[in-house]
Amino acid sequence: MKIFDAVVIGGGPAGMTAALYLLRAGVKVALCEKLSPGGQVLMTEVIDNYPGHPKGIKGYELADLFAAHLDNYQPERFNDEVREITPGPDGEYELLVGAERIKAKAVVICTGARYRRLGIPGEEKFLGKGVSFCALCDGNFFRDQTVAVIGGGNSALEESLYLARLVKKIYLIHRRDEFRGCKCYLDKCLINPKIQPVLSTVVNEIQGGTAGVTGLLLKDLKTGETRELPVDGVFVFVGFEPVGDFFPEGLERDKAGFVMTDGEMKTNLPGIFAAGDIRSKACRQVITAAGDGATAATAAYAYLEHLHV
Ligand SMILES: Cc1cc2nc3c(=O)[nH]c(=O)nc-3n(C[C@H](O)[C@H](O)[C@H](O)COP(=O)(O)OP(=O)(O)OC[C@H]3O[C@@H](n4cnc5c(N)ncnc54)[C@H](O)[C@@H]3O)c2cc1C
Repeated sequence: MKIFDAVVIGGGPAGMTAALYLLRAGVKVALCEKLSPGGQVLMTEVIDNYPGHPKGIKGYELADLFAAHLDNYQPERFNDEVREITPGPDGEYELLVGAERIKAKAVVICTGARYRRLGIPGEEKFLGKGVSFCALCDGNFFRDQTVAVIGGGNSALEESLYLARLVKKIYLIHRRDEFRGCKCYLDKCLINPKIQPVLSTVVNEIQGGTAGVTGLLLKDLKTGETRELPVDGVFVFVGFEPVGDFFPEGLERDKAGFVMTDGEMKTNLPGIFAAGDIRSKACRQVITAAGDGATAATAAYAYLEHLHV
């Protein structure tokens, strides 16, 4: 069985940064990534808000730069899914990666999160071409255009208020006959002239062509009637969920399942750290994921030093 000082799970911005910092500190690291390195960045057409790129940078280009930088330090890569983390009697952790078992004294969990999907036709097809799950990231591409926001909770309301500063008009579509979000956001949405609530309505299809989204097919749940609504973009906020169901028993998580950490990215279990979108926090962006990765690596290094690695 291969033995490492630290295993980093997930090769998104958090995982690649954590691995980079640990390798630079001389730690023997394994990086496990089940897909290609880059994580959610690979789903992003252009990243417009990562400092140092005043003209924006394509998601896959930023992912390649992270990976190329990491490759300078030659981590041992496992291109497979981590399925299990089991604590051993010696305080070390055994991980099942694909079909292989490896061991480490410290584990940094960076498995990210994903936006819950509506699961309707057109959603995957137009992802990055008019379908977005991030107003902060993509709102600027819809300046002075008409968009729909789908959802009725705080995210949908908050992101509608953010988008209202940029776009011409927003249809705020929710399947129930009242919004679930906090009154503080709702009141602001209801008085905003750009935001038009569309209640008791579901989206059955996202329509478009080669240039991207052109409209939605809506169904009124009270009358059963369907109609088309022309829009240039659609923002889906029907929930956000953590990725990973293999975490060690006893790992503290919040109500939504995100991993609880302190400011150093330590979890409640010794030797287990978490960084990036998987952890319970307010701002999920590339820069915060990378920052978490650096912080987690620093804490993991200190932990290993303490064990006299
Ligand atoms: C459409 C979209 C647009 C966005 N636009 C922007 C933007 O413009 N600017 C910005 O700053 N942020 C943007 N974000 C958010 C940003 O991409 C994320 O905050 C960031 O990627 C989080 O990094 P992470 O490393 O924590 O997780 P992720 O990027 O989610 O990476 C996690 C990685 O872990 C891997 N993994 C998961 N489980 C396992 C397992 N069991 N074993 C092995 N590997 C595993 C996954 O394959 C993935 O590669 C956007 C997100 C989306 C979805």
